[in-house]
Amino acid sequence: KDNLLDKYTFENFVVGPSNELAYKVCLEVTKNPGKLFNPLFIYGRSGLGKTHLLHAIGNQLKARYRVLYIPLMDFSDSMVKAFKENRVEEFRERFFNLDVLLLDDVQFLVGKERTQIELFRIYEKLQAEEKQIVLVSDRHPRDLKDVSERLVSRFESGLIIEIGLDEETKRRIIKQKLILYGLPLDQETIDYVFENTGYNVREIEGFVKTLKVSGIKRLPKSEELDKEKKVQLIINTVAKGFKLNPELLKKDTKERRMINARHIAMFLCKTILNLPYSQIGEFFGKKDHTAVMYAVKKVEQRCREDRKFMYMVSFFEKSIRKSLG
Ligand code: ADP
Ligand code: MG
Repeated sequence: KDNLLDKYTFENFVVGPSNELAYKVCLEVTKNPGKLFNPLFIYGRSGLGKTHLLHAIGNQLKARYRVLYIPLMDFSDSMVKAFKENRVEEFRERFFNLDVLLLDDVQFLVGKERTQIELFRIYEKLQAEEKQIVLVSDRHPRDLKDVSERLVSRFESGLIIEIGLDEETKRRIIKQKLILYGLPLDQETIDYVFENTGYNVREIEGFVKTLKVSGIKRLPKSEELDKEKKVQLIINTVAKGFKLNPELLKKDTKERRMINARHIAMFLCKTILNLPYSQIGEFFGKKDHTAVMYAVKKVEQRCREDRKFMYMVSFFEKSIRKSLG
């Protein structure tokens, strides 16, 4: 069992400036596994095609090599199980016998000491025999806090490549997904998807899928403009409540009162307008949708713990809903 998914291939991976290097190096690895780039470490935010590339490597090699794709969480779970059932040797053998190990989501190593020890053992054995190891993570090895120094330094000893997503690549991907779902490829549709999604291929796919099932009920342009006005209304209302300059709320300042108000405004954009996280991020000058997710969670949590805070938030919410009609 190699855990490989056929649907992820090099052929259906759209290439552009921000992922070209990762793509090329992965392809190179399949020509000479274990020799050139070993280990190969790819990192980047969620939804940018890291898992896709790992499977693509595996699919290319599985006919000729013993390949295994495994997310770190599964590695860890199966290790724990092996220890419980006294089958540690069997567990190790499974990895020792590989030609190519594709390990996904390595960031979950953080804090898992036993898993790190086992992985290190397997790593050393495979490296010594020039077996290919490809690792994927949402952050650079040096940012893997609470991972043993010896593992981090091994990860850093190979080739480290960041994968991103830029405007040009995003447009190409949108076109590919529209074709995939049999949707029109006109500029207006492309722009529509572009503007309503963040820099995340998973989100783009989800959006195009929804377009498909909803039979392309595109929002009229006026409603698009409307969205901006609604966000501005939320920002203005919250800013006024905190006696802050609304323009400052949209900037990434670190002042405490500002952060608090900004979090509440983001939260209200989510609950009242139900916009995608990434889009809310764009209104607030944040590239990363996780910052918005964090803000929303934070406000929810405080609402549960702090009655006064909850009243304040629901007061904002009511008055905004009233103005929106
Ligand atoms: P990650 O592992 O980086 O979070 P995934 O590899 O799971 O992201 O990608 C999320 C989805 O987006 C998958 O369905 C994948 O096929 C698709 N995808 C990502 N990048 C591309 C790309 N460059 N071309 C085509 N599809 C892509
Ligand atoms: Mg992934």
